[in-house]
Amino acid sequence: MQTSSLTLVTDFPVDARVRIWRRIFSAPGEFDELQVDAYLIITDHFILCCDTLLCPEDKEILLASVRDELRAGRQLLLFNSHADWDHTWGNGSFVPDPSNPAHAALPPDKLLSQGALIIGHERCAERLLSEANQQFLRSYQQRYVLFQNVTLHPPDITFQQQIVLHGGDLTLHIQHSPGHCVEHSTIWIPELRILLAFDCAEQPFPTIEDPHALRTTLERLQKLHPQIVLCSHGKSVQPQILAQNLAYLRQLEACCRDIRGAEQLTTSTLYPYQQALHDANLTLDSPIDHNFYRDVHQNNLQTVWQHRHRLYTSLPAAPSQTYLDGSSESIEPPSSF
Ligand SMILES: [Zn+2]
Repeated sequence: MQTSSLTLVTDFPVDARVRIWRRIFSAPGEFDELQVDAYLIITDHFILCCDTLLCPEDKEILLASVRDELRAGRQLLLFNSHADWDHTWGNGSFVPDPSNPAHAALPPDKLLSQGALIIGHERCAERLLSEANQQFLRSYQQRYVLFQNVTLHPPDITFQQQIVLHGGDLTLHIQHSPGHCVEHSTIWIPELRILLAFDCAEQPFPTIEDPHALRTTLERLQKLHPQIVLCSHGKSVQPQILAQNLAYLRQLEACCRDIRGAEQLTTSTLYPYQQALHDANLTLDSPIDHNFYRDVHQNNLQTVWQHRHRLYTSLPAAPSQTYLDGSSESIEPPSSF
């Protein structure tokens, strides 16, 4: 029996122009509790809906909360931080069903998102429309009624490195920030010193696809000196999450430094889950989905090792530096990456 909720987060004081919406979705046997946040940024000129949560109904409920601001003449734009299902499956539109209680909160006349353009990184469409994502959607639609109206709709406006939206009172710097996945992007709002980090930072730790890219991304984001860092998962808002996640990444790298065989890759001996939680100021009693994060931790270790191993084995055989006097010495593989 799955449970779910969709609420406006009011227990953390953010600027009134940045509103946090939180979706909880539980599916016993699959995961304990998925928590994902989306954001509405209200500027003088437009409203940017950052990610769509899980389905078109979620997105319309978010937009219904800013109906008055939209009627005042602001343009509506949507943004996909990346292609993962919990961020983009609300991209499409649907026809509300009056007999569905979830649709009661939706505008009766016309769906607010109709005609709104979606902004995303150019690689977002590729992943969103992939055969793997289509199969994943079909399997979820067979199991959960929540996803019946989901259609895969790619971004209309794409960028490679960055795109800047000028809202009058606020400037939104959308920047490519890979590492969690190849198309992942973040938003920096300098006037408020708020960073929307989405999935590249997370309490207790993010899911890592490319360790080198993630480290570059986190180091760059740290240099912005944000006062608030909003993450899609984990409910963290403190800027220290960037340093904490970087330390976690370095710890994984240190664990992999002397490992030559994949059979040695077990977090229980190299970097126990409980220790990783402790480093994130959490314990096994903390109310997070431990089954999920235990898997993420193990997968992160493997990803970091594979990445390091690829770099190591791609070096020329017996690399050496030859000096003018004819002597030579071996070049050590990189100690970090
Ligand atoms: Zn996510």
